[in-house]
Amino acid sequence: MNSTNTNSVREVVATTPGVPATDGDGVRMTRVIGSQELNMLDPFLLLDAFESDQPQDYIGGFPSHPHRGFETVTYLLAGRMRHKDNAGNEGVIEPGGVQWMTAGKGIVHSEMPEQENGLLMGFQLWVNLPARAKMSEPGYQEYPPSQTPLEKREDGTEIRVIAGITSEGTEGIVRNEHVRPTYLDVTLPAGRVFEQRVDAADNAFIFVIEGELDAGERRTAIGRRNLGILSEGDLVHVTTAQGARFLLVSAMPLGEPVARGGPFVMNTKEEIIQAFDDYRHNRF
Ligand code: FE
Repeated sequence: MNSTNTNSVREVVATTPGVPATDGDGVRMTRVIGSQELNMLDPFLLLDAFESDQPQDYIGGFPSHPHRGFETVTYLLAGRMRHKDNAGNEGVIEPGGVQWMTAGKGIVHSEMPEQENGLLMGFQLWVNLPARAKMSEPGYQEYPPSQTPLEKREDGTEIRVIAGITSEGTEGIVRNEHVRPTYLDVTLPAGRVFEQRVDAADNAFIFVIEGELDAGERRTAIGRRNLGILSEGDLVHVTTAQGARFLLVSAMPLGEPVARGGPFVMNTKEEIIQAFDDYRHNRF
């Protein structure tokens, strides 16, 4: 790809390893977005990274809890999670599979490990909904690994395409017209180059799962288990000396006021108070 004139390459503006956090019933994770270090990256409200082979770190899971006003995206690399909600939906998320849940006006669900030992590794990303869709009907886009496209390139690069479209034309399975997200899980062999067009107005980040990579024309290093926030631009450029696996995620910012109250994310404080009241009175 020619990256001389019309392309502006996105640079790394900041990196962060996130902060250790505990949520649900004692589940230990790293909160990469949604912490005091990085409050949000519009429209991304939260990114939790799980990685443990110690059952006490995850066995408690996330018993029954509500959500309203945004979407939760669960993507696993190892282990299995079972989810159940108050509308009778139930399923198991597996490695390479994705659950993109639109909480909309409200859902009450549990997310529990479907294992008593072994490695649990994956991510939960919260994607904000625009004001007009916050009180929409809840819904799921849930796909097993066999249905999430896996692009295999001649140079050995492998890309799991959850959302968006790769430069070689593989289209992700998740649809979201509100923020038109890209969500790629890229495995890049040592010495290879990865380039991906993203909308210039998107907010975008890279999270390194394994190895280490360099991003942008300035070749800024992002280490394992670190998030790199990318500048504006329409081309993401990544190289790796030793090989790397990483998430590339981007979406259109909403630019709306954000009011948070635990598991509810609305536009105003009044709407948060209403959400707590609705939940208390079983109106979910
Ligand atoms: Fe949840």
